[in-house]
Amino acid sequence: MMKQRKVPLRKCTGCQEMKDKRELIRIVRNDAGEFSLDRTGKKPGRGAYICPNTECLAKAQKSKGLERSFKAPVPKDVYEALLAQLEGEENHA
Ligand SMILES: [Zn+2]
Repeated sequence: MMKQRKVPLRKCTGCQEMKDKRELIRIVRNDAGEFSLDRTGKKPGRGAYICPNTECLAKAQKSKGLERSFKAPVPKDVYEALLAQLEGEENHA
């Protein structure tokens, strides 16, 4: 497979900044309406992007940025899963 050098930019649903999509976490909603976190960027479905930090997650939750991206309600456990993942990665006590 050819490697593409061009890096697409995606907008964080929290801070609304355009960033290299590799720096963002993708959240995917599939045809069945199920949400999941996608670190590979390859899952099928509609995606929204967010910076890997809890601040942007809080902003996205407050402003309903994810809901707007998906045009659907985002269950609380999606936010909780994201938060758990982010806190695990930030890894500071
Ligand atoms: Zn952000």
